[in-house]
Amino acid sequence: MADPTSRNAAWIHRDLAVLWHPCTQMHDHAVGPDGTRTIPLLPIASAQGAWLTDMDGRRYLDAVSSWWTCLFGHRDPRLVAALQAQLDALDHVLLAGFGHAPAIELAEELLRVTPPGLAKVFYADNGSAAVEIALKLAFHYHRNRGATRRTRFVALSGGYHGETLGALAVTDVPLYRETYAPLLLQPLLAPSPDAYLAAPGEDAEHCALRAAQGLRELLAAHGDTVCALILEPLVQCAGGMRMHHPRYLSEARKACDEHGVLLIADEIAVGFGRTGTLFACEQPGVSPDLMLLSKGLTGGMLPLAAVLATQRIYDAFYAEHVTRKAFLHSHSYTGNPLACAVARAVLRTFAGEPILEHNRATAARMRDLAAPLTAHPHVAQVRQTGMIVAIETVADARTRRSFPALERRGLRAYRHALARGVLLRPLGDVLYWMPPYCVGEDELALLATVTAEAVDAACAD
Ligand code: PMP
Repeated sequence: MADPTSRNAAWIHRDLAVLWHPCTQMHDHAVGPDGTRTIPLLPIASAQGAWLTDMDGRRYLDAVSSWWTCLFGHRDPRLVAALQAQLDALDHVLLAGFGHAPAIELAEELLRVTPPGLAKVFYADNGSAAVEIALKLAFHYHRNRGATRRTRFVALSGGYHGETLGALAVTDVPLYRETYAPLLLQPLLAPSPDAYLAAPGEDAEHCALRAAQGLRELLAAHGDTVCALILEPLVQCAGGMRMHHPRYLSEARKACDEHGVLLIADEIAVGFGRTGTLFACEQPGVSPDLMLLSKGLTGGMLPLAAVLATQRIYDAFYAEHVTRKAFLHSHSYTGNPLACAVARAVLRTFAGEPILEHNRATAARMRDLAAPLTAHPHVAQVRQTGMIVAIETVADARTRRSFPALERRGLRAYRHALARGVLLRPLGDVLYWMPPYCVGEDELALLATVTAEAVDAACAD
């Protein structure tokens, strides 16, 4: 029976009457015969720092940064102040035929901090839209140069780029893709450099080089029909926080260049310090042709995305009107001033404070706290790249045999952690930490304790 004094209960009732939640089988929110919901539904009243508070005043440590958006903590005062100041000047204006300071200044600043060679910024309002734009730009770039045979994309197996139809087409996560497969473009899939797939005795670098060889073979066979390779640099996030050696990116860059194929770096999840450097592409020193940013771009405060392109790409569209080479893509909220102002505050924070140095210490602490889990009989691997730690739970760590998906082991971990006041939202059976950068020592200790319990809860018979 729902507690009649619970504000949560009242809000859940109203929620279920009108909302259809993302990435959710709504039936899982129904109350089952045992009086509980398969997946709890939590109405959140407020947030501060690394914590969310529900309508009944219970607190949850946001260990996944609210789908990897929240960088410095919720309601970070620097971002709040930037948003409030911008509200006093300009709320929104269309960006076709008009410009404004936040969009211009943010573009200038993004181009200063991203890898060399990127010269123009095209805005969108979410990650999937940025992916759609990049795919269209890549195709259209070749077409404007007369290369009309280039109509295909190469994507990596296990990659994820969003769930609109174009983005889903280059996503290789069956859970999201399979149903819609008849509607989707068919990409060429190159092997993932995922170090979890290393052969016995093979290190991460050799595993990456082997995958790069697979890419070279694919491009040797089909390169002249390919527009672009799209990938998530260093960590394939939604595909299970699978991590790879930076060498893969330099090899992929070379292979693309040899075949006239553009390289699209989707840094939507890994950008803004998640991998240890401001952008993942910095680690191998690779400059992509198109770079995609969203999520952390506004520190998790407002929706915004940016597609950064080289001058060469921009120039392929720049011509007299009659040539019909223009890129006529648009979204109503392109370059929203409020979101751009908050994003500028994010960049100011990185420029003015030693965030990456601070994160190095936090990441070292995360490594130490996660290390004991490597010995767990149901943990096949604990891996880390910068501020991302992932724990691969399996039926048998020795053979790496997975649990049957229908057992929903990750869900058990999720439920356990929530009951203990921690938001850990596994990807299948992979538990991971991707906390806001303000996370403190005590919070990390709580996270480690609850994660260990959650692994036990998930893996018990
Ligand atoms: N690319 C990557 C790498 C992502 O992780 C995501 C979102 N998880 C997207 C694209 C899509 O972004 P959005 O959810 O804002 O559409």
